[in-house]
Amino acid sequence: MAATSDEQAVLDGVPSQLFIGGEWRDATGGGTLGVEDPSTGETLCDVADGQVADAQAALAAAAEAQQDWAAHPPRERGEILRRAWEAVTARIDELAVLMTLEMGKPVAESKAEITYASEFLRWFAEEAVRIEGRYSVNQTGEGRVLTMKQPVGPCLFVTPWNFPMAMGTRKIAPAIAAGCTMVVKPAKQTPLSMLALAQILEQAGLPAGVLNVITAASSGSVMEPIIKDPRARKLSFTGSTEVGRELMKQAADQLLRVSMELGGNAPFLVFEDADVDEAVKGAMVAKMRNVGEACTSANRFHVAESVAHEFSAKLAQRMGDMKIGRGTEEGVEVGPLIDDTQRQKVAELVDDAVQRGAEVLVGAEAVGERGYFYRPTVLGGVTKDARLLKEEIFGPVAPVASFASEEEAVAAANDTEFGLVAYVYTSDLKRALRVCEGLETGMVGLNQGMVSNASAPFGGVKHSGFGREGGHEGIQEYLETKYVAVSL
Ligand code: NAP
Repeated sequence: MAATSDEQAVLDGVPSQLFIGGEWRDATGGGTLGVEDPSTGETLCDVADGQVADAQAALAAAAEAQQDWAAHPPRERGEILRRAWEAVTARIDELAVLMTLEMGKPVAESKAEITYASEFLRWFAEEAVRIEGRYSVNQTGEGRVLTMKQPVGPCLFVTPWNFPMAMGTRKIAPAIAAGCTMVVKPAKQTPLSMLALAQILEQAGLPAGVLNVITAASSGSVMEPIIKDPRARKLSFTGSTEVGRELMKQAADQLLRVSMELGGNAPFLVFEDADVDEAVKGAMVAKMRNVGEACTSANRFHVAESVAHEFSAKLAQRMGDMKIGRGTEEGVEVGPLIDDTQRQKVAELVDDAVQRGAEVLVGAEAVGERGYFYRPTVLGGVTKDARLLKEEIFGPVAPVASFASEEEAVAAANDTEFGLVAYVYTSDLKRALRVCEGLETGMVGLNQGMVSNASAPFGGVKHSGFGREGGHEGIQEYLETKYVAVSL
């Protein structure tokens, strides 16, 4: 199905060029890249295919704007963010359709992402005016310690396709609030939400050069020269651990400050004392938000032996009832996966688990003749050697394994190189705290299936990366501490 006339009108309203130094311009050489609708496989529109020279021009614009922007009154920086939040909120319906067209998730989920994404604009509008240093007496009593917070300088942001707006605002909003300028490179599969956001920030009064956006088919060759350019002072990346590792090597040349929001393999633990219905409700959110294409997605369910059967059966019933279809259709709960490669990977992981002895309770098949749909799947009795317990699935598949003791559950949860988030369902307070302390993750959802919130520090440990986005911590990623030793 081609885009409807309403959808086409939304697409026509989005800029398709690069945004550099406050101007919308074509890529060097005039090349473009197509953006696909994953529910049909058809091309929706074309955007500029940025080249190395464009990325360098974007960094030059950011570097040139840095000093002025840092000197801008914090209140004004905050008010620009606030106006952008108001504009995103007012235009949520059209922005949600845009996001669904390029990414596939149902419109209701796109709206939820946009609400979440825009909250970073509002949250950091408020943080912009609360950047503090300190003044104290040093330990000898003879001198004074003065510290001041200053923007780190021009930043480079690379964001993934799974949350096309939120992964941008988690970086852009605190950077604007802190007084940093930036170059953003969204994923080539979903550049449209970022281009729409850049236009909104421009209209909200963001000065030229503070935010620059480069879309590109060849992200590696376009980003590497500017990551190695001494004018850049910070790199913040959200994406796979594999690419994050590569970017860290590139960032080492200039000793760039780095934040890494990387892959996950979230365990979801259900203890025998949990409210099973509540756990199933939480599991639906933790698993099916974004069709499972989330770094926070529950990747594996470890359930106490005594309730494993009940939990699996109820989860399979709920997953099996979900309506699959194009995200813009009424009532659809499950959209397509992002592309065929992703769908094949999901199918491969399911086949591997089944070959090793897992039982298919529901799903386990591709669906539809067009687009990249995969049926919500629950697998019971998953064996320890199944690949999907170790690898990030990034799809609507819930493998359930059982455990006999709390120690076994925590050990299984920690048996991964990843450490982003874990979910714990129990009604025993002492156990809850004990287990939360024992989990090697940056975040825990305690009796809830979602942790993402602009007012909280989001981030991981181990191979899930480092750095925090959101909360009071989020702005610190964009501030340096300068210490002045004061002699009286
Ligand atoms: P990805 O392949 O690592 O891509 C992420 C971004 O990096 C895209 O913009 C991509 O551009 C760019 N990129 C790829 N190779 C690059 C290179 N050599 N140099 C510079 N940029 C490069 O990840 P993805 O498949 O888009 O996203 C899924 C992954 O992100 C999952 O592992 C998920 O867990 C993780 N994620 C983590 C968080 C978190 O907060 N921890 C949040 C969301 C997602 P192109 O796509 O244009 O090539």
